[in-house]
Amino acid sequence: MHKNAYRIIKIFNKLYPNPKPFLRYHSAFELLVSVILSAQCTDKRVNKVTPALFKAANTPQKILKLGKKGLIPYIHSCGFFNQKAKAILNASKSIIEKFNGKIPKTIAELTTIHGIGRKTAGVVISQAFHIPSFPVDTHVFRVSHRLGLSKAKTPDKTDYNLRRAFPKKQWIPIHIQMISHGRALCTARKPKCSVCPLLSICPEGKRRVKIA
Ligand code: SF4
Repeated sequence: MHKNAYRIIKIFNKLYPNPKPFLRYHSAFELLVSVILSAQCTDKRVNKVTPALFKAANTPQKILKLGKKGLIPYIHSCGFFNQKAKAILNASKSIIEKFNGKIPKTIAELTTIHGIGRKTAGVVISQAFHIPSFPVDTHVFRVSHRLGLSKAKTPDKTDYNLRRAFPKKQWIPIHIQMISHGRALCTARKPKCSVCPLLSICPEGKRRVKIA
């Protein structure tokens, strides 16, 4: 466990008391599709387009039936719609062929699905199945490095460090709270260190405030 783990948990619980997934979904498959759509797109935008899409097709079989031409009008506004349609169709095909249409519950199995990496797999198992995981996106990577929780160069190695830094039962809420913090205060450009409650235990914050 990291020496600051409990202080970070306490501060995050005060700042973000109700950590809930940002994407809206009713099944693991819907979540997987939403995560694919969220690449280079806001969760807000994804949540706007998915109700109509999932009304039309909310299983791998129905998505395949819809096909690329049928899928694109629903996801067009999320950007990169050609690649995203292809990714959703390929993943649907894999899920049917390898797992009989059901989303598996382990990272090892999920990452055998076409186009699904460790981060997406981690989001699916933690948020759809409530199995502790620590997926590392750009916010989690940035915030955890600034807080001195990892020095790893890759998201996969950062994920390993974070799983050792915090108790397992905290992984799911802390992951969501770290994303919230990366959006609210610890932004990529101009983090608001001077008003951040983590400043006294944050190496990067102290460095920045001294410089400012
Ligand atoms: Fe991020 Fe600054 Fe807060 Fe550290 S003090 S967590 S760098 S906003």
